[in-house]
Amino acid sequence: MKLIRFGEPHRERPGLQLPDGRRVDASAVGDDYDEAFFESGGLERLRAWASTSAKGSPSVPPTARLGSPVARPSKIVCIGLNYRDHAAESGMEIPGEPVIFLKATTSLAGPNDAVVIPRGGTKVDYEVELGIVIGLRASYVAREAAMGHVAGYVLHNDYSERAFQLERSGQWVKGKSCDTFAPLGPYVATADEIPDPHRLRIWLSVNGDRRQDSTTANMIFGVPELVSYVSQFMTLLAGDVISTGTPPGVGLGMKPAPVYLKAGDVVTLGIDGLGESCQKVVDSA
Ligand code: ZN
Repeated sequence: MKLIRFGEPHRERPGLQLPDGRRVDASAVGDDYDEAFFESGGLERLRAWASTSAKGSPSVPPTARLGSPVARPSKIVCIGLNYRDHAAESGMEIPGEPVIFLKATTSLAGPNDAVVIPRGGTKVDYEVELGIVIGLRASYVAREAAMGHVAGYVLHNDYSERAFQLERSGQWVKGKSCDTFAPLGPYVATADEIPDPHRLRIWLSVNGDRRQDSTTANMIFGVPELVSYVSQFMTLLAGDVISTGTPPGVGLGMKPAPVYLKAGDVVTLGIDGLGESCQKVVDSA
């Protein structure tokens, strides 16, 4: 199944994208796609409803805004430097253990919302990433059991302000958490739709110019390893998102000098099986 949320910001409703591409309102099922939904078997309820009632459900107008396909989770955990070539272009060592950092959940945005250059920001950069959506609370989960805690996968653009991240001292979280810096979607694909998350083409373009083009086969740490690893340090709640790191080609790594985003730029990205998204860059009001 492909789970969407649609409508105005903070007033989104749950929906489904059907196999024929039509989007329907799923609010009749009664749950938003949040921790309670995933933890209480919501996907099974949704699947039952989809098999009997989805076709007759009201269509979502093609012009409707899409929101983040998960309602605001307790946390977004990001993995740094998880593609060998990206670690090299960033001038950093390939890590012996996953690098993890957090991104404020207030940075969540719809997949096609504008990305806003924060006040004082001059080095806004993109990072296309495979996001894991947790389906079942996970604490000290063994690697062998980790996939049982995965609800599905989602396309994520892990935006950064590199000066806030790298030049303003302290943790990366400062440059990762600005409003609109986590466009998620268009949809969450349930795990059954993505039999192998380690064989997906992953790409991103700026103004039509292909900047990132790789495969999730190049990840250093894979999905079961990451879910297990993160759960050794914190409890993952249903609905939480783990963003698994970005391949090479970010603005920071461009030669001879970094190239950052500016107002008016258009960023498009996609992952096999997880759809595409598009963000226009705008200045802060
Ligand atoms: Zn990232």
